[in-house]
Amino acid sequence: MDDIVHDVQQDAIEPDPCTLTKLDFSGRRAAAWLLGRAGGARVARMWRRDWNPPNRPVCSCAEHLEDVRNLELRPSHEGAPPTLFGELVDAGVLEVVPLPKRDRTMEIYGEGTIGPFHWGIGAGDEVRWCYDDDAELKLDELLLLRHGVDRVEWMDREEFMIGAPTLCESGIVVAFGRALADPKVRNH
Ligand SMILES: [Zn+2]
Repeated sequence: MDDIVHDVQQDAIEPDPCTLTKLDFSGRRAAAWLLGRAGGARVARMWRRDWNPPNRPVCSCAEHLEDVRNLELRPSHEGAPPTLFGELVDAGVLEVVPLPKRDRTMEIYGEGTIGPFHWGIGAGDEVRWCYDDDAELKLDELLLLRHGVDRVEWMDREEFMIGAPTLCESGIVVAFGRALADPKVRNH
């Protein structure tokens, strides 16, 4: 087992201090989590081969969009009515795209290569109304807590890169919705 843990860590790209990863919290725990999820040999292969977006039923998602359409998102300013997450998605507010291989890692000056990332998320203005910058937890921190999310880079106000090789597109949408619905992302 130790050999397999070593194998996984050796393949990992040096993390950027600004990128949130589950390895930040505990490398050993994250490795154990990976091993528990897929088995050591399979994980080692997963890190070496090219990635393709998984589809159902091969994905590891605990939920898909149809399970959370009625999730209520509360705007960060008091008194405003809640929005249903499904309505937000139907309105095209969230754009989720699988990243091509060339975009799955980034070079940061002075810090080296960060990644791998698998999904890009573009979020419209309506999303900005659902969280506060000085809330108990930041949106990227809450995203990282979601099942299957290994790494989050908050690129810009409305752009995120997510390392989540085993989640399908619908599962990524759910992860974002669950993070937005968490009350810790707002001040009230
Ligand atoms: Zn899925």
